[in-house]
Amino acid sequence: MEFNIALVPGDGIGPEIVGSTVKVLEKTASKFGHTFNFTTYLAGGCAIDEYGEPLPKVTVDGCLASDSVLLGAVGGPKWDHLSGNSRPEKALLGLRKALGLYTNLRPAALQPALASACVLRPDIAEKGFDLMIVRELTGGIYFGERGRNESGNAAFDTEAYSVMEIERVARRAFEIARKRRKHLTSIDKANVLETSRLWRETVHRLGQTEFPDVLLDDMYVDNAAMQIIRAPSFFDVIVTSNMFGDILSDEASQVTGSIGLLASASLGDSSRGMYEPIHGSAPDIAGKDLANPIATILSAAMMLRYSFNLSEEADFIEQTVSKVLQDGWRTADIKEPGAESWLSGSQMTEKILSEME
Ligand code: NAD
Repeated sequence: MEFNIALVPGDGIGPEIVGSTVKVLEKTASKFGHTFNFTTYLAGGCAIDEYGEPLPKVTVDGCLASDSVLLGAVGGPKWDHLSGNSRPEKALLGLRKALGLYTNLRPAALQPALASACVLRPDIAEKGFDLMIVRELTGGIYFGERGRNESGNAAFDTEAYSVMEIERVARRAFEIARKRRKHLTSIDKANVLETSRLWRETVHRLGQTEFPDVLLDDMYVDNAAMQIIRAPSFFDVIVTSNMFGDILSDEASQVTGSIGLLASASLGDSSRGMYEPIHGSAPDIAGKDLANPIATILSAAMMLRYSFNLSEEADFIEQTVSKVLQDGWRTADIKEPGAESWLSGSQMTEKILSEME
């Protein structure tokens, strides 16, 4: 099969980690008999330098014309003095909006080989966990009406959700749960918030009518924040609102131990998605060949699974990465405390490529 992939490497370590990932995708394509065509576009700080704006039209048009987008990261100290719509980060929101992406997927799994890096108690970590947070991305309090009173000493933000907004993200979460361990936990604050009561009713109605084979349960967000630390192995797929998902996905990612391993996907109605590591542009290590490419490589595996329906190829990439980690290979960010040697970003890429042979 043939797919067109828009590459948006961005700033800092972005070009390094996207470059590594392209090599892994090319290797996968040749092994499985596919063709991936890559076109590179600028967004973020590099686009400000080149075009005077963080998200030029040529980038939006290129991404819209592609089958999917692979993004590195944007931003850095060079552009920190800019404000509002001129900032590099504006490119991310602009791309999500232009591509109609309303669902964010953030997997958090404990790689068995990295249990010692996990911040959880050893008896909890040794059970392992593999959860997927499905977060609503374009509604809720981050986009609701807000303001201040005239004297400026009081302010408000509004949480608002429609049945349509809840249904479309919940449907995606049920579909994902169906392909995993068939367990969906819907997280809300239905004991206090009216939007959460609508959320809960809607998710249950959808479960009963369209997904009776998926086990559905509910959890209040405060309890969920505790359970992610006390019993993460309870969870398979979580679905939640924009703000709760923002907070819980950062919590879940931190318990795994390394930011350099964590992938993400943003999806909408079409098969086109945007795939990116959860970390930023890491300006402190940019250009030093220290960046761990694994989060971006795993993001590309998600692209194969969720946008191109190439599950076998996605499994192949994920299993290769797990094997390299099991064999003890580490970049600086995931090395054992006291370890005296580790791989550079390009050496890790080569290890993964040779394991794919
Ligand atoms: P960051 O994620 O870039 O870095 C935090 C720490 O993690 C740093 O010490 C960094 O060296 C390390 N790190 C990150 N990715 C790594 C990798 N792949 N391998 C090894 N170590 C890695 O967060 P920050 O320092 O808060 O932000 C830096 C810049 O990135 C800022 O301009 C910020 O706005 C931007 N940012 C962009 C995105 C995005 O593009 N999605 C997300 C977060 C931050």
